[in-house]
Amino acid sequence: MKPEERLAQWLGESRNIVFFGGAGTSTESGIPDFRSAAGLYRQEEQLPYPPEVMLSRTFFMEHPDIFFAFYRSKMLHPAAEPNGCHRLLADLEKEGRLQAVVTQNIDGLHQKAGSSRVLELHGSVHRNYCMKCARFYSLEEVMAAEDTVPRCQHDGAIIKPDVVLYEEELNQETLYNSVEAISRADLLIIGGTSLTVQPAASLVTYFKGARTVLMNADPTPYDAKANLLITDPIGQVMERVAAILSAG
Ligand code: NAD
Repeated sequence: MKPEERLAQWLGESRNIVFFGGAGTSTESGIPDFRSAAGLYRQEEQLPYPPEVMLSRTFFMEHPDIFFAFYRSKMLHPAAEPNGCHRLLADLEKEGRLQAVVTQNIDGLHQKAGSSRVLELHGSVHRNYCMKCARFYSLEEVMAAEDTVPRCQHDGAIIKPDVVLYEEELNQETLYNSVEAISRADLLIIGGTSLTVQPAASLVTYFKGARTVLMNADPTPYDAKANLLITDPIGQVMERVAAILSAG
């Protein structure tokens, strides 16, 4: 049996699927990840500082101009569209099979595909708040700002994206809900993540069900625990799985 046939069979047999994903789920939508050959960490020579430095809380507070120049040019992809992975997960939720998408991504593509139960461990580029009065700003408003550093119309304070920077804590409610969803699942699909960013990556250890599917192009520390390992591009694989499922 081909891996996508096996996956289609397991999806058909499951009622409590949870997907745990990362940046690799969006590369086929044109958003670079961090650690692949084409990832942002390989572009360090063209950047003023390493990405993990620029994406830290300390750097944001000390150099908001450099932070936003990097953030706008490398982290914002408003024209990106969902791919076969996002679309199949949204369909599985509508069929009542998938209980949650737990994602490290900040791009909002799962919601754009139609998923509603999305737990965003690292926040979202679509939510932005004034650091003084907490007024909400959309991604469009942040992008339309004339200054490199977006500022509140009311008090002039910096508008901070609701994304979790290095040195910042994860939202406790999102973390709790993610642990609960993963620990109740009967099928866990881990996709497009190097499983190296903590504490997010360790959440997969809460899974107590029988079947773990790992879909990642490069090896991860969790490969040996997977019941099914798929290394082909996740969007393409999910499209083939969707075709198998719809053929019945
Ligand atoms: P990562 O860059 O560390 O790892 C991505 C993994 O996905 C790699 O191991 C790579 O082999 C795999 N991959 C890439 N394209 C793939 C494809 N088409 N099919 C299958 N596998 C593929 O990403 P991470 O583990 O998510 O951790 C990095 C952090 O970067 C996260 O915290 C995330 O918030 C942030 N990030 C998010 C986005 C986004 O929102 N789209 C983009 C870049 C980085």
